[in-house]
Amino acid sequence: MQIKCSHCNKMFAENKDAALAGMYAIHNDGQNHYDATCLHCQHAVRISDERMKETYPNWEAEYEEMMKRAAEFEKKQKKLVEQAASSKGKPKKEKKKRKRKR
Ligand SMILES: [Zn+2]
Repeated sequence: MQIKCSHCNKMFAENKDAALAGMYAIHNDGQNHYDATCLHCQHAVRISDERMKETYPNWEAEYEEMMKRAAEFEKKQKKLVEQAASSKGKPKKEKKKRKRKR
């Protein structure tokens, strides 16, 4: 979503995932606004929950989508890490030293 900073009056695009997480916070933590951070001056820009709802009327569905994506991404990451670990990081098996019986 495009936001106009109330401090420096510049426009910036708010990350959708962050905004959706913000909506979730509004609903579950009883907040009545979302604080976006201006890319230009780093000030917090207050966005009312009405504005948020207008921008993301289906935020609940989109939030769920996002969480699913995040979970899948994590799974993939885990797999990659496991693959990487198994392909290179295996500790070499110690050669068994056979005690020669004399
Ligand atoms: Zn600003």
